[in-house]
Amino acid sequence: MNDYTKILLADSPEALSEAAELIKSGQVVAIPTETVYGLAANAFDQTAVKRIFEAKGRPQDNPLIVHLHSIEAVSEVAKEVPKLARKLFSAFSPGPLTIVLPKKKEVPYITSGGLETVGVRIPDNENVRELIKLCGVPLSAPSANISGKPSPTTAAHVYDDLQGKIPLILDGGVCRVGLESTVISLDGDRIKILRPGKVTAKMLSEYGEVIIDKGVTESVSEMKKPTSPGMKYKHYAPECDITIIEGSLDEFIGYFNNNADEKTFALMFDDDIFDIKNRINYGNESEFFSLLRELDKKGIKKVFARCPIKDAQLALYNRLIRAAGYKIINANSFSEVR
Ligand code: AMP
Ligand code: MG
Repeated sequence: MNDYTKILLADSPEALSEAAELIKSGQVVAIPTETVYGLAANAFDQTAVKRIFEAKGRPQDNPLIVHLHSIEAVSEVAKEVPKLARKLFSAFSPGPLTIVLPKKKEVPYITSGGLETVGVRIPDNENVRELIKLCGVPLSAPSANISGKPSPTTAAHVYDDLQGKIPLILDGGVCRVGLESTVISLDGDRIKILRPGKVTAKMLSEYGEVIIDKGVTESVSEMKKPTSPGMKYKHYAPECDITIIEGSLDEFIGYFNNNADEKTFALMFDDDIFDIKNRINYGNESEFFSLLRELDKKGIKKVFARCPIKDAQLALYNRLIRAAGYKIINANSFSEVR
């Protein structure tokens, strides 16, 4: 364990070569990407990858996404790259799309969470792609937070979670997308969404039939075998207790007025008209994880949240239901729907 975590600006060649040296020597380094900050190590080095799991406290069967500098490098880790995968990478890479493909034997099982597949993406951050080139190997990089907590979208978030546990954080400013990549798997011509993100079902539907896995909108109990192992774990959870209130704005207000005490906050859409002191706005989707961290910083203990529209705001909905521990109440019937 290191007692000291250094933060360096990611756009300096010296910082990139220092990060590359650390990674080549088997260490882990936090990196900025367009989605969220990642905790990166040599994807082929079992000992280095183990350090990622230890620093995050991540369950060992939750696979890591492998980050590459270019589409050409996909064949370094994937045994087969179907035509559809090539098309999708060409359309959306570099960018927030991860495709699950059959893995090559060189990818150790610790990286793939014991699976025969590997999730692959090309991040849209020039400095990080340069870093991957300097390392000369693909980088496994899950989100750089303590497992279960909201994902980090600034270097300060990473520092709050991992100081003393990692030697270096590359600071690339605020993440532009702010939500993790869309994760998909392919079944012939069909595209299955395992985790929704900025690359939406609508965007993908130009390339094939899109199916949304049940685990995206529902709670996957530990008993069932989820399509993507990450689905079954606690995620994005602040200390603050969040309850989602389904229904119209009027129904939400009715529920809030009847059930909130003076310490309860209302998490509302920006254009909702409801004049109360204890109000927080969702703001931009890219700021959602920051907002979750702010709730705890401000000592807010209880929130009633307006419910995002499932279809139109699938990525936000998917993160919010997890942050709320699947507590959803229908304001109309006042019954717990889940
Ligand atoms: P994170 O690293 O925190 O962004 O989480 C990565 C997500 O991608 C998790 O939900 C994983 O379950 C999912 N994932 C990564 N690799 C695979 C794979 N081979 N098969 C299915 N899901 C995967
Ligand atoms: Mg994560």
